[in-house]
Amino acid sequence: MSDNRVYSYTATLMGSPILLKLFSNNKALASRVFRLIKQYENLLTVNRAPSQVMDINHAAGKHAVSVSRPVYELIRVAKAASMLENSAFNLAIGPLVKRWKIGFQGDSVPPADEIAALLAITDPAEVVLDDAASSVFLTQSGMEIDLGAIAKGYIADRVRDYLRKEGETLGLINLGGNIQTLGAPEGGWSLGIKTPFGGADELIGTLNVENKSVVTSGTYERFFEHDGKRYHHILNPRTGYPLDNELDSVTIISTNSIDGDIWTTLIYGMGVVKGCAALRARPDIEAVFVTKSKEVVVSSMQHFRFTLLDNRYRLTG
Ligand code: ADP
Ligand code: MG
Ligand code: MG
Repeated sequence: MSDNRVYSYTATLMGSPILLKLFSNNKALASRVFRLIKQYENLLTVNRAPSQVMDINHAAGKHAVSVSRPVYELIRVAKAASMLENSAFNLAIGPLVKRWKIGFQGDSVPPADEIAALLAITDPAEVVLDDAASSVFLTQSGMEIDLGAIAKGYIADRVRDYLRKEGETLGLINLGGNIQTLGAPEGGWSLGIKTPFGGADELIGTLNVENKSVVTSGTYERFFEHDGKRYHHILNPRTGYPLDNELDSVTIISTNSIDGDIWTTLIYGMGVVKGCAALRARPDIEAVFVTKSKEVVVSSMQHFRFTLLDNRYRLTG
């Protein structure tokens, strides 16, 4: 039974607060959705054993590991994104992520020689895939896959598909930064984008979408400071240090949340000008950039509306 009231359900999964909005009072469905998220988290996590991804990592330098089809497919997509020319995305970045521990207890700036040594075991070409066996082999010992930049997007898409399969026509899932929507209530979904380094409820503006995913990645989300310098959690796969550019955040509007995840990271590597140029070839994927110099740049606005709320920022694009 669907009415026009919104029912919100919350949980904490994947270390994040999760919000599910339905237009029917259906606690049982919400429970099934949360269970689905948990199942995928258990397959994909690298923070807690056992998971299929950890099995792959433990076998690095030794042997290939066969994994379930969804895990294999996600790794295949992540590898393809990693192999793009000059890609800032790298699924094999795990050893560096583990060493930096950015945003976790014990984060510190590693010595340069350690970074160099770890960079040597982050080549995505050394992630060897076998379609027929659905297996993954990391050729060098110490290599580690990290799907942290892409898992939430993948799972958000699975939740959208599940709700659709269950006959829902309207719904929203927010996996702590990855929002995926099914349909839209009258007037569309109005989604806030946070002001970088602002208070919890401070919004730079709102996006209005339907049937779209909205993914924001920001350097303000997870970082630590050392000697007056800020180190955030998106690493440059070529230097081993956090990506440093003019961006405070980027939001991607796309049909699939997995594209939002891939493109937030790719765009962090490109910056505004190259990012806009790259998106010209992808009319299905659009971006809202927020720069350190307080500009909001929109790559195009075919599939959403943006309303600026924070008058300290200028809207261009
Ligand atoms: P959030 O944690 O806010 O969702 P992202 O989606 O941008 O942020 O993902 C950041 C995570 O991705 C990091 O915590 C790390 O696990 C992983 N990561 C860091 N740098 C890269 C990179 N260059 N390519 C792929 N994954 C990365
Ligand atoms: Mg993310
Ligand atoms: Mg991401």
